[in-house]
Amino acid sequence: MECMKSSLQTLLAVDSGSLKAWLKDFCKRNGLLTLSVLSVVVGCMLGFLLRDINFSDQAKIYFYFPGELLVRMLKMLILPLITSSLMSGLSAMDSKVCGRMGLITITYYLWTTFMAVIVGVVLVSIIHPGADAKTDGERVSGGPVMTSADALLDLIRNMIPSNLIEATFQQYRTQLIPIVQPVTSVKTPDFVYLVPDEKDPTLSKPVFLELTPAPNVIYKSLPGSSKEMNVLGIVFFSATIGLLLGTMGERGTPMVNVCQCVNECVMKVISAVVWYFPLGIVFLVAGKIVEMRDPSLIGKKLGMYTVTVVSGLLLHGAVILPLLYLFITRKNPIPYVRGLLQALVIALATSSSSATLPITMKCLLENNGIDRRVARFVLPMGATINMDGTALYEAVAAIFIAQVNEYELDFGQLITISITATAASIGAAGIPQAGLVTMVIVLTSVGLPADDITLILAADWALDRFRTVVNVLGDALAAGIIAHLCRKDFLPYSDKDILICNIQNLPASEIPLLASKDCVFEVLGDVVTEKPAVYYNIAQV
Ligand code: ASP
Repeated sequence: MECMKSSLQTLLAVDSGSLKAWLKDFCKRNGLLTLSVLSVVVGCMLGFLLRDINFSDQAKIYFYFPGELLVRMLKMLILPLITSSLMSGLSAMDSKVCGRMGLITITYYLWTTFMAVIVGVVLVSIIHPGADAKTDGERVSGGPVMTSADALLDLIRNMIPSNLIEATFQQYRTQLIPIVQPVTSVKTPDFVYLVPDEKDPTLSKPVFLELTPAPNVIYKSLPGSSKEMNVLGIVFFSATIGLLLGTMGERGTPMVNVCQCVNECVMKVISAVVWYFPLGIVFLVAGKIVEMRDPSLIGKKLGMYTVTVVSGLLLHGAVILPLLYLFITRKNPIPYVRGLLQALVIALATSSSSATLPITMKCLLENNGIDRRVARFVLPMGATINMDGTALYEAVAAIFIAQVNEYELDFGQLITISITATAASIGAAGIPQAGLVTMVIVLTSVGLPADDITLILAADWALDRFRTVVNVLGDALAAGIIAHLCRKDFLPYSDKDILICNIQNLPASEIPLLASKDCVFEVLGDVVTEKPAVYYNIAQV
């Protein structure tokens, strides 16, 4: 009996020991992710619980404050992250390799975006959500908007910012200014009608009314700006400088070192601030739900439209893109996507792929082991030009609006919508509801009324979150695919591995002496560790 008792105690001790170890390990690996997912759930519950309380506008601002801080933290990191990672990443790359990778990346991005649009067009044509939509004439007039040509030119202008400092806080945006043309006064009465005479009501007296013709308004395109960071311009500038630094040899090394230091610091800041995210997410999500108008209204009016967009996003994000990853890399996409969950939760909470960029980078490097040089190149570019979710949504929304207006679209118009939706998604910034703005380009391309955008406004804040998740997922899967396609250009270790081992634990300050491009190690703190990071040439050692 005694013996049994003691063995049970040992077993329990072992078991509780291993359970503790397992729990510790689980928390270490998945703690943050679990907390983030929980915080979305808690945020939703809190939001719906507090909806009945009539918050004043000021109270809503206070309530939203912790969430606002989260978004501010992420935005703060975008500029140093993009500049430092592109400059240091590309400086270590051969310009030929870089050109090849650039070409593959852009081709891949264009194709997947176009595929997303096709998925949207097919689904919206099958489901036909416009037939059920009840619009109640709730349309607001908004005047004309930018044309596709203006939007394309703006995109190119933004690639080449005229002032780099300005590019960090605003971008070029053509403005349409209404100019009211003077009306020539009309002397002759346009209208005559009779009113009862005050003195004798049995008589009528004529009233002459001069009708003023409606003023003629013409719209003029003028240079303007919008208060968003010009990420595209910064990406292009940093990439160019990075490539040039790579060709400068030793003279470029100090600058490359500065960029590497900044990059390392930013990654450390990211690792620290992620622990604030669960709290921020609760208030971000709850704040949005408190603010939202009656959700049942969206269900009634835009139910089928929402179902169409969400099923398209699911089909593209959960089936087509992972299958593409599977076919090209021959690797299981599930662990890869699992490694990205943290970034996907942040995308869901912030509705901004630019703000999610620091976390996507962290997930790719730390969880999915993607080569730094690939991640540094593919991700910032993807966050600005690759938006599969947005493209799919724009195509669905445009066709939905045509269906509501009982406007038959022919095959040529469907092609026009597909091409303009692809272009409009490239032009959309990675910020909340940017797709709604560029969608006007798609509508005007086939002669649909741009004002009808108000038909889908009610559901947009929710759909924006889902399409941002697909945008981020598309960028991250692209990084995995491109890392695979360019793997020969980026062998993680050269045939000089032995030498890499020999230089481990050298003071980091000595490394630039050996620096160039051929083999890999990482500088962590003051000493060199063995994790692959930056290529150096140790041929002269
Ligand atoms: N919110 C989206 C993003 O940041 C853009 C959009 O579709 O509105 O990726």
